[in-house]
Amino acid sequence: MADNRVLLEVRDLKVHFFTDEGVVKAVDGVDLTIESGKTLCLVGESGCGKSVACRAFLGIVQRPGRIVSGEILFHPDGNGATIDIAAMDPKGAEIRQIRGREISMIFQEPMTSLSPMYTVGNQIIENIVLHTRDSKEIARERTIQLLDQVGIPRPDRLVDEYPFRLSGGMRQRAMIAMALSCNPTMLIADEPTTALDVTTQAQIIDLILDLQHEYGMAVLFITHDLGVVAELADDVAVMYLGKVVERAPVDTIFNDPKHPYTQSLLRSIPKIAMRREELDPIKGMVPNPFRRPDGCTFHPRCPKAMEVCRHVVPSVTQLDPNHLVRCLLYESQEGRPDESAPAGRN
Ligand code: SF4
Repeated sequence: MADNRVLLEVRDLKVHFFTDEGVVKAVDGVDLTIESGKTLCLVGESGCGKSVACRAFLGIVQRPGRIVSGEILFHPDGNGATIDIAAMDPKGAEIRQIRGREISMIFQEPMTSLSPMYTVGNQIIENIVLHTRDSKEIARERTIQLLDQVGIPRPDRLVDEYPFRLSGGMRQRAMIAMALSCNPTMLIADEPTTALDVTTQAQIIDLILDLQHEYGMAVLFITHDLGVVAELADDVAVMYLGKVVERAPVDTIFNDPKHPYTQSLLRSIPKIAMRREELDPIKGMVPNPFRRPDGCTFHPRCPKAMEVCRHVVPSVTQLDPNHLVRCLLYESQEGRPDESAPAGRN
């Protein structure tokens, strides 16, 4: 059950990709905290760094990317022990003890983590044996139990099937079973329902909520779907171009959003009976990562941009103990020239 202690603290995390064309700052100073037993939804458009940040939490950033600075402090059992995942060798034995056991991840595409070469059962059994040292027989029993728990019919038969013989929804359930096989304290779900039809999507979300309730684990859910956020989240962190630009409890995000990007995301949700011309999409596109705008990186798309936004990078402003925003509209003007005039559009 939830005890509301901080499980993961991310401080000023930077993950950069070093390519021939230049450096992509995919994650550019992210701060986050995730509490035990709670669900934090990380939202933002594609390309804003959500998935890269979460891969960093497990030490699985793919080359040519790497963590260049920051801390990922994991507090596994509340006894004061702290592990800095960012400082670990991503291929070392220590991180492998955390990955899959303490922190598990489910991906958008199940075949990312399920091999087509082995049966579903073999893959889950191997994970259990590796992390718990249980015998294969006990691990097989637990696997059948888990497959049953995630709603797979006839789990005693499916345990010996190959992943390609299952439907997308069933594969996703099998992957959730694998992620839960070692009873993790934290589950990272990277858009796990995007590739599924609406009915299966709803079933998988209900399943994650039920299992979270039963196991008391923290869930970090990455999505660009604000409908999913409303259903799942306790807290929401909104990311734009590698930074968290707003963080607050879910009710605050929906009822009193402060950052112009969050406000634009909410305005762009289509509503039933809305005509096409009434849709209000966010202006422009996420910028090319090699040509990040100066100042506030959202300024070319921001309906509230001021002249100052073109060259001053906003800092974090704490609006109340649980509500943080990164926008010059809320920063003290002290020491800055009066530049509140609206900016010309780029
Ligand atoms: Fe908009 Fe300026 Fe705030 Fe950036 S800092 S979100 S451009 S108002």
